[in-house]
Amino acid sequence: MTRVVDQPVLVLNKHWQPVAVLSVGVAVTTVIRGMGWVVDPVSYQLLEFEDWCEQERPDARLIRTPRGELPAPEVVVLKEFADQPRRQVSFSRRNLLRRDQATCQYCGRRGVEATIDHVMPRSRGGPTSWENCVIACSRCNHRKADRTPREAGMPLRREPARPRWKPTFAVSRDHYREAWEPFLAKGDVKVELK
Ligand SMILES: [Zn+2]
Repeated sequence: MTRVVDQPVLVLNKHWQPVAVLSVGVAVTTVIRGMGWVVDPVSYQLLEFEDWCEQERPDARLIRTPRGELPAPEVVVLKEFADQPRRQVSFSRRNLLRRDQATCQYCGRRGVEATIDHVMPRSRGGPTSWENCVIACSRCNHRKADRTPREAGMPLRREPARPRWKPTFAVSRDHYREAWEPFLAKGDVKVELK
């Protein structure tokens, strides 16, 4: 299990757009240095770290410190940073597994021995790219062989495409926080700011 200080915190820019994921340790340091606030995930209040620690946080992950346990923030907002970085998800086996949720794109089985299938086979000039690669179980990959899905009579469950970048793309399921949801949802978050 990863230590709480190394677990992820969602970071928003000053317009409340999600821009990054930082470790709890770095996020707390950022707030203590006055560069950001902790966002209360229920009331959306902006809090200094001490104020965040003073309230009951029954669901919080706890940071062990020499002075006792402190609740880890879920979301922080930066005071000055306004940019919305435009990034791309780089192509890798790991990211492909994330995009396809480790599910065979032909038979739909999950958590099977995952292989990378080239939709248009490599032997026929198919590139190694987001648009031409999918996760397939070894059985489907073997069965499809050097054929297209149409030739093999094996339709894809969905058209492969480059995944949209979001700051939490690389966060593992175990560390994903429900409190992030409203901030990652499409469209603007409607919040009343004082
Ligand atoms: Zn399969």
